[in-house]
Amino acid sequence: MDRLTLALAQVRREKETLAVMFLDLDPFEAVNDTAGHTEGDRLLQSASERLWGLIREGDTVARVGGDEFAILLSGISQVEGAVAVSKRILKDFRRPWVLDGHEFHVTTSVGIAMYPDDGEDAETLLKNADAAMCRAKEQGRYGFQLYTPAMNVAVLERIALENDLRQALEREDFVLHYQPQVNVSSGRIVGMEALLRWQHPERGLVLPMEFIPVAEETGLILPLGEWVLRTACVQNKAWQEAGLPSMRVAVNLSARQFQSRELVNTVTKILEETGLDPDCLQLEITEGDAMQDTEFTAKVLHDLKVMGVQIVIDDFGTGHSSLSYLARFPIDALKIDRSFVGSLPVDQSAAAITAAIITLAHSLNLSVIAEGVETEEQLAFLKERKCDEFQGYLFSKPWPAEAFEAILSRGKRRARPKISADFP
Ligand code: C2E
Ligand code: MG
Ligand code: MG
Repeated sequence: MDRLTLALAQVRREKETLAVMFLDLDPFEAVNDTAGHTEGDRLLQSASERLWGLIREGDTVARVGGDEFAILLSGISQVEGAVAVSKRILKDFRRPWVLDGHEFHVTTSVGIAMYPDDGEDAETLLKNADAAMCRAKEQGRYGFQLYTPAMNVAVLERIALENDLRQALEREDFVLHYQPQVNVSSGRIVGMEALLRWQHPERGLVLPMEFIPVAEETGLILPLGEWVLRTACVQNKAWQEAGLPSMRVAVNLSARQFQSRELVNTVTKILEETGLDPDCLQLEITEGDAMQDTEFTAKVLHDLKVMGVQIVIDDFGTGHSSLSYLARFPIDALKIDRSFVGSLPVDQSAAAITAAIITLAHSLNLSVIAEGVETEEQLAFLKERKCDEFQGYLFSKPWPAEAFEAILSRGKRRARPKISADFP
C-alpha cells in the first residue's frame, strides 16, 4: 500500500498512468489439501520468485494474503503494457511446478486495473483489479481481464449467490435428477447419472453450471458433494428394494472433492450407511481432474477400486490425457464428451475422434459411453462403431426421481422421442 500510494502521488504529478494487477493461484487449496501446508508454502515462495523474475526493476510484487498476489507496474503508459506482462505471467505459470519431486499443475488468472481510468486511489484500484480477476476466472480459468465498471455488479451478484448457496445447503434446497444410461445394442436401461439441481426459492430450478463453480471456490462443494453421494445411494437402494431392476448410479465428483483426503472415507461411510452394493455406484471424474496429479489420482482410484466402486472418466476428449496413465489407472469406462457426440456424424473430426475414443477404450478393455445423444443418426453412428452405452435426450432427459421411476417401470421403451415438459 505504501509503494502504491507513493507511485500514485508521482504519476498524478506527472500526469502518467500505472497498472495494478491482481492474481491468485488455481487451485491452490488442492496443493494444500493433498500435499500439505509445507508444500503449499513452498509453492507460494516459488510463485513469488517466478513473478519477481517476470517484472521490471522498480515494479512491485506483493503477497496480499492467502494465495493472492498484487503487482504494481509503474512505468507503464498504456494498458497494452500490462496486458503483455499478464500474458508473460500466464505463459510462465503454465510450466509445471515441481516441489519436492512432485509435479503440480497450478496456474493463475489475472485482473488489471489502470490509473486513472479504473480508479484514482489505491483501495479502488486494488478492489477493481480483484473484481477483474474474478471475472477472468468466471470466463474459464487461466486468462486475464481488464476492469470494467460492470464488474462491480458481477462481484456483488456473486457474493449474493454464495450466501444463497450456504442457506440452500442448510435447508437442503437441492434435488437430484436422474438420466437413464442405455445399452446401445439391447436398448435396455443399465444405469443412470445423478445430476444436481438447485430449487431456488425465487429463481426456480438452477442448473449446476451456474453454482458449482462458486461451490468449488468456497469449499461448499464438499458438504454438497457428500449430500449428492448419499442421496443418490439412498435412492438407488430404495429402487432396488422396491423390486425395480438393479442398476448402477453415476455420481459426478468435482475437482475439490476428488482431491480431498476425506473422499475415500466418505464413500466407505456412505456405502455402509446405505447398504448399497459398491458395484452399483459409479464415480465420474473429469479427464482434466484425473490428469492433474497423476500419482495422487492413481492412489485414490486404487483405494476406490478396492472397495468395488466403478470409475468413469467424464468429458473424455476435452482434456489432455497421458495415455500411459490411462492404461494404468484402475478405471472401468470412458465417457465421450457431448461436444463430439453433438457434432456427429457430419463433422468429420468429431466423427474421427469419437471412433478413436471407442477403439482406444476397447483396446484398454474399458467400456465406453457416449453422452448427449440427441438424434437417431448419432445413435446409428455409435452403434456401428460398437459404442457400449449412451445417454441423451434421444432416449430421455434427466428427470426427478418419481418420473425416473416411471421410466424404469416401463422398461426399455423410450421415455419420449424428444423432451417434453409434461412428462410423466
Ligand atoms: P456432465 O457430467 O457431463 O453431465 C452431462 C450433462 O449433459 C448434464 O447437464 C445433462 O443434463 C446434459 N445432457 C444430457 N443429455 C443431453 C443431450 O442429449 N443434449 C445436451 N445438449 N445435453 C445433455 P447438467 O445436468 O446441466 O450438468 C452439467 C454438469 O454439471 C455436469 O456435466 C457435471 O459436470 C456437473 N454436475 C452435475 N451434477 C453434479 C454433481 O452432483 N456434482 C458435481 N460435482 N458436478 C455436477
Ligand atoms: Mg457426468
Ligand atoms: Mg460429461
